[in-house]
Amino acid sequence: MSRNSKDETVIKVLLVDDEKGYVNVLANRLSKRAIHATKAFSGTEAIQILRKNEFDVVVLDLKMEDMDGIEVLKIIKKMAPDLPVIFLTGHGSQEAAMEGISLGAFDYLTKPCELAELIEKIKQAYQHKFEE
Ligand SMILES: [Mg+2]
Repeated sequence: MSRNSKDETVIKVLLVDDEKGYVNVLANRLSKRAIHATKAFSGTEAIQILRKNEFDVVVLDLKMEDMDGIEVLKIIKKMAPDLPVIFLTGHGSQEAAMEGISLGAFDYLTKPCELAELIEKIKQAYQHKFEE
């Protein structure tokens, strides 16, 4: 957690998705709502970034080229068990969504999701850290 110039709490999010355009637009939009997003375009990149940096919340795409989101989730849960992970699934991925929850994900959203919905979920996940 850090603070911006308006002394507003800034939530640090790691945004993991292999659709670069989507990640860039999303990161940009989140930054206007006091959410600082670090971008990772693959599961491998996400793990590397997580080794060296601290985050409040991870937003993780379930379908990626190099590594399945479920595999990435398992690794994150080993590295940082208390770090909340929200994952993004496509339509008809209910089974994968349930698997993610059973593996300790905080929650999931179905893509394409509303920005407001994602922000709300990120804030819930962030609050959750302090309630544990
Ligand atoms: Mg994807």
